[in-house]
Amino acid sequence: MIQQKVQIVEKILDANDQIAMQNQQNLDNHQIFAINIMASPGAGKTSVILKTIQMLQDKMRIAVIEGDTAAVTIDADKVSALGVPAVQINTGGQCHLDASMLDRAISSLDLQQIDLLIIENVGNLICPASFKIGTHANVVIASVPEGDDKPYKYPNIYRGIDTLILNKTDLLPYIDFRKDYFKTGIELLNPGLEIFELSCKTEEGFSNWINWLKSKVSNQTNR
Ligand code: MG
Ligand code: ZN
Repeated sequence: MIQQKVQIVEKILDANDQIAMQNQQNLDNHQIFAINIMASPGAGKTSVILKTIQMLQDKMRIAVIEGDTAAVTIDADKVSALGVPAVQINTGGQCHLDASMLDRAISSLDLQQIDLLIIENVGNLICPASFKIGTHANVVIASVPEGDDKPYKYPNIYRGIDTLILNKTDLLPYIDFRKDYFKTGIELLNPGLEIFELSCKTEEGFSNWINWLKSKVSNQTNR
């Protein structure tokens, strides 16, 4: 009985990986660099995305896909207000994006007109990590108010990622956040992982993140 359940879950993940590979092929064909942003609710995903758009939109063409569990378009509206194409995926209560959702969202965008595609996953530190969607980089945003023990409590999400953002560093003077403890936890799970410490409020540290994106996008468009 249990064995059968395991097999079913494996099949779903296999099918998902297939579609994720096709998504990445599709993005590569259009020389688009795509990132999958994951975080818990309130870590500042949308704020980082908005600030990133403002700093990059005169240098490259950006589009955003917003994953939300409800049919509220609050985040997508904020992105649209900056003049950037935004597509909302309503997961219908599901707590993560999967590859076929991304496939559908991609097909509603004009891929000829995009250099950087930013995907905001559903706010949740558990299952988004298990579902590849076909992006080139998986990014987690942690934030200072969430606490320095996140890597110890939610190890899975930090294992497969390519980059980590530590957001809201402007709050460090007010919160007992042991940066060394946090970074040690990350290093155990994902040795050598690049961490961008930044603040949307003060823009401190943002240039490193922006430069990382610029070089990734330029590698992809010059392939
Ligand atoms: Mg958001
Ligand atoms: Zn889920």
